[in-house]
Amino acid sequence: MLEEENERKEEGCLCASGDILFLACAGGSNVGQISNQAAVELAKEGKGRLFCLAGIGAHIDAMILPAKERKLVAIDGCPVPCAKKILDHAGLPVALSVVITDLDIEKTPMLEVDAADCKRVVEKTKEGLRA
Ligand code: SF4
Repeated sequence: MLEEENERKEEGCLCASGDILFLACAGGSNVGQISNQAAVELAKEGKGRLFCLAGIGAHIDAMILPAKERKLVAIDGCPVPCAKKILDHAGLPVALSVVITDLDIEKTPMLEVDAADCKRVVEKTKEGLRA
């Protein structure tokens, strides 16, 4: 559903592309790094735009104001879940929340991004966008 709306916007006007914003926790763990890589890959596939979670956490108006008009997808590494909480604290509703450890991907302190795990997160997020 979200995916279809995004595609419709892109068909109508390129300026409107990025109706969906991906915000990754980008934490210091394998799952944190997978969150960022998955968001990058989703953006490269044209499913939406990668957006600056740090800017929202820093209360930068120029980041918060445009985010208010978009559909926000939080991709978190684990159930803490920092990206979703930052958006909650900024008063920004989350349209879709993906938590990577919910996919039975174990959190470790290693920073390597497992390509197969990343692909699962990308696919799970796309599934959520279609729902
Ligand atoms: S959601 Fe988990 S992995 Fe991501 S920054 Fe927070 S504690 Fe780290």
